[in-house]
Amino acid sequence: MKTYEKADGKTLELLAAVVKARHPDLEAVRFDVLKVFTDSDGPALTLGGYTALACVRILPLKQRTAGRGDAEILVDGEVFDAATEARRKAILDHELTHLAPKRDKQDRPMLDALKRPRLVMRLHDWHFGWFNSVASGQGSVASGQTPARPAECGVRNAECGIAPRWGRRDLARMAAMVAVYAVDQAAKRIEQRL
Ligand SMILES: [Zn+2]
Repeated sequence: MKTYEKADGKTLELLAAVVKARHPDLEAVRFDVLKVFTDSDGPALTLGGYTALACVRILPLKQRTAGRGDAEILVDGEVFDAATEARRKAILDHELTHLAPKRDKQDRPMLDALKRPRLVMRLHDWHFGWFNSVASGQGSVASGQTPARPAECGVRNAECGIAPRWGRRDLARMAAMVAVYAVDQAAKRIEQRL
């Protein structure tokens, strides 16, 4: 069974600090932050069927009128409470980056009927999905084609609907970013051992 807990003062302070430092355009936004816990074996939070550490949604006018905030952030309470402050900040930063003020044609922030900020969702720069079976050409989706070269794997994954607008250049950039990340992580692991 899932249970919810309103975020403690320390978490809200951390959120305010991240807003101030990284998302000053969201300073007028009121956030409802809830920690989600579960007593089952599965994850406390999922999004589209996948385990999530946190998620964010814009609250509609009806809920704002009923006394809710402008946006709601849910975090996996167990993971969040066990995380370092740097990781907690990163989780909140990620969720805040999903939000942007809605702007009119003159680029002014728009307000709703309650004079609260209107918001829009920003999608990930990279949304990465991967099926090993598709990449290796052994899955049913491959439909008898020869095994894919690495650059083609993502395209075929994309054909499954994960990232339909990706082209080869996007995949090359993504591969470069993944490589940089992997080297960075390896360097960190070496540093920790030294
Ligand atoms: Zn996200």
